[in-house]
Amino acid sequence: MSQPQLVQGYEVVIGFETHAQLSTQSKVFSRAPTAFGAEPNTQACAVDLALPGTLPVMNKGAVERAIEFGLAIGSHISPKSIFARKNYFYPDLPKGYQISQFEIPVVVGGQVEFFLGDEKKTVRLVRAHLEEDAGKSLHEDFIGQSGIDLNRAGTPLLEIVTEPDIRSSDEAVAYAKELHKIVTWIGICDGNMQEGSFRCDANVSVRKPGQPLGTRREIKNLNSFKFMQQAIDFEVRWQIEQIEDGHAIQQATVLFDPDTGETRAMRTKEDAADYRYFPDPDLPPLVIAEEWVQRVKAAMTELPRTMAARFVADYGLPEYDATTLTQSKAMAAYFEAAAKACGQPKLVSNWVMGELSRRLNSGEASIETAPVNAAQLAALVGRIADGTISNNAGKQVFEALWSGEAAEVDAVIEAKGLKQMNDSGALEKIIDEVIAANADNVAQYKAGKDKAFNALVGQVMKASKGKANPGQVNELLKARLA
Ligand code: ADP
Ligand code: MG
Repeated sequence: MSQPQLVQGYEVVIGFETHAQLSTQSKVFSRAPTAFGAEPNTQACAVDLALPGTLPVMNKGAVERAIEFGLAIGSHISPKSIFARKNYFYPDLPKGYQISQFEIPVVVGGQVEFFLGDEKKTVRLVRAHLEEDAGKSLHEDFIGQSGIDLNRAGTPLLEIVTEPDIRSSDEAVAYAKELHKIVTWIGICDGNMQEGSFRCDANVSVRKPGQPLGTRREIKNLNSFKFMQQAIDFEVRWQIEQIEDGHAIQQATVLFDPDTGETRAMRTKEDAADYRYFPDPDLPPLVIAEEWVQRVKAAMTELPRTMAARFVADYGLPEYDATTLTQSKAMAAYFEAAAKACGQPKLVSNWVMGELSRRLNSGEASIETAPVNAAQLAALVGRIADGTISNNAGKQVFEALWSGEAAEVDAVIEAKGLKQMNDSGALEKIIDEVIAANADNVAQYKAGKDKAFNALVGQVMKASKGKANPGQVNELLKARLA
């Protein structure tokens, strides 16, 4: 375990609750469509409106997505879970209660693993449960009134709850990004944060190291990674200031205001007792037979973690490379295609994480539209591996391919005269000339100065206009001076 990272002598403690909207066509307990952006109240049926006499019917697709999530992070899938009514009144919740899961959720335990820099982190999950979303209250277009749009009411959500394992805002963002990657990778959620498909609540407290957990405040509905970081950083400073000033932290729900960069209390936090949870008599227990779990498992795509482990085992990549390359399905597929085509996995990995990622990060293209495709990168890496060009010349080839100047690696090497000098006869001639012209360096090298040897290598490289193979220069020069 590494030392906890402290802020003004305090340890930061964070637990996350994330609402991932499940990508089903229809709602979790009704057949109304879930598509985003329709005219208000055109996608709410009698069940969503809570008209008398309507009954909820469980959407199997939503359950399947919850199972997939549980399998992806190594959780226990409850063979029998219970739907509960969470009672509260809000205009956008016509039933007066939200159908959720309380005592027995569908997904129990599991963990999310990720790298922060090159340090591996693990965040344990408490649970993930199925529930329905509420509608939306609209205040902007109504003077002195509020509008209600019930299109979102009944949209399936998976609420994913962590243990308070996170220790900094950086770690919080890294966790959220990893979770986002998992749900989008397995395709259970579209991950669109602007549209609210992936919303995070961060529970934040601070304490002096070794003390029991401090009182937390919950920052609601963080819908961008940037705001997440700003909100947590502000909240941590605020809490420390309060404690240093002698004030106790009150448990509360707070909102982040991106305009001021501050968090503000919205209400004091309800306890579970306030919600008067009880099993929903309209829904039977959700029974998931092992056979169903196995069927879902068999149909799932290879998971990022499994794929990363395979990259380590099959291609001998360091764990860091394997984790980085499996940040997205497209990136992993690109790597694997190029590695297979040229048989140089580590070199390909260096190029994908280096030159290619640098260009992608600058926003010039996405991996799907990258002007240098996997086959081209494989050809380029192949030419470095077989000694035809140096790594530096490789960058020039990459640039030519990327800018669209040329499409074929060998043609670029030819046109730009980038071939390394592999003809040892020609190289020996240059070496002899350099030795003759640099008697000082030769004498110093013979007197035991390594620096003088490097100077000679530099001279040979220069005389060859950069086309000599540095490894070969080293070898020949050593032999010649022995
Ligand atoms: P609630 O029922 O009020 O939502 P939970 O016990 O389910 O409370 O916890 C909600 C989230 O808050 C979890 O992610 C948990 O890890 C986190 N959490 C609990 N206590 C603390 C604390 N003292 N500091 C930070 N996070 C906490
Ligand atoms: Mg909670």
